[in-house]
Amino acid sequence: MKKTIVIILALTGLAFAGLRLAAFLADNRATDPADMVERYADADGKAFYRINAGINNSYLIPCRGGWLLVDTGYPDDYGRFKKALSVTGISPGSIKWLFITHAHDEHAGFAAALRRDSGCRLIVPEQSLRDLRAGQMVWNGRAVNWRIDIISRLYGLVKRRDMRFPPVQPNRDDVILVKDDRRPLERIGIRGTLVYTPGHSPDSWSLVTDDGRAFCGDAAMNFLNILGAAYRPIFITDKRQAYGSLRRLLSLGAGEFYTGHGPAFGKERIEEVLTRFGGDALNHTGTGR
Ligand SMILES: [Zn+2]
Repeated sequence: MKKTIVIILALTGLAFAGLRLAAFLADNRATDPADMVERYADADGKAFYRINAGINNSYLIPCRGGWLLVDTGYPDDYGRFKKALSVTGISPGSIKWLFITHAHDEHAGFAAALRRDSGCRLIVPEQSLRDLRAGQMVWNGRAVNWRIDIISRLYGLVKRRDMRFPPVQPNRDDVILVKDDRRPLERIGIRGTLVYTPGHSPDSWSLVTDDGRAFCGDAAMNFLNILGAAYRPIFITDKRQAYGSLRRLLSLGAGEFYTGHGPAFGKERIEEVLTRFGGDALNHTGTGR
């Protein structure tokens, strides 16, 4: 009897996960470019944007002379990204900077193509350089729970994800991040700090503006919460670092989280995460070295 119940529950869980996956894939086939764009306003009323051309979010933040883009999508999201970009009225050429939060394929996927088309300069973590140059995401993290482990394996099969992307070759005009730094942003007219936020991966960085917006890549997510992700990264290489990074973002005044996956959310969610899971968060030093 007990065994039957367990089997029924497991099958129900799998069917549910399958449906979620189907829904998710359908979402990402959206063809109306306007549906991929969300417009926000900063504390001064200036517009900034989220573009969701696939599974990943990119953000456009106004900077001196144009725009800073935070992250790309997979290589094959680029066509949809350009269509969505045209909805905002921003031309590829006015993207002056690209900040890659970490060297994962769905964050750096079309960086090389965008760079070719726009001539943008890069802001990239030093720890990401090897994988960016190789065009290969090296992955040794773990799913945050077994349900997400199953669904991500299914996704990997459906997507035929090989973790590769056209290599990105930073040069001396680009900014390589080695420790928390305001200066690269100051130079381009953005008030904020670039901070080291490892835990999802060893090379994860975030941009926190002085008005409390955290563009944090995969340091937090609003994704698969229905499977228990609870606003945490769905994959983690180091739990204590991951929660330590969230603490750090809060301590820097992050009030709104603009993450790589899913819509923006407020800091209360992160406070809940830390209360529930993050008791042994690691206080790291804010340097990638
Ligand atoms: Zn990632």
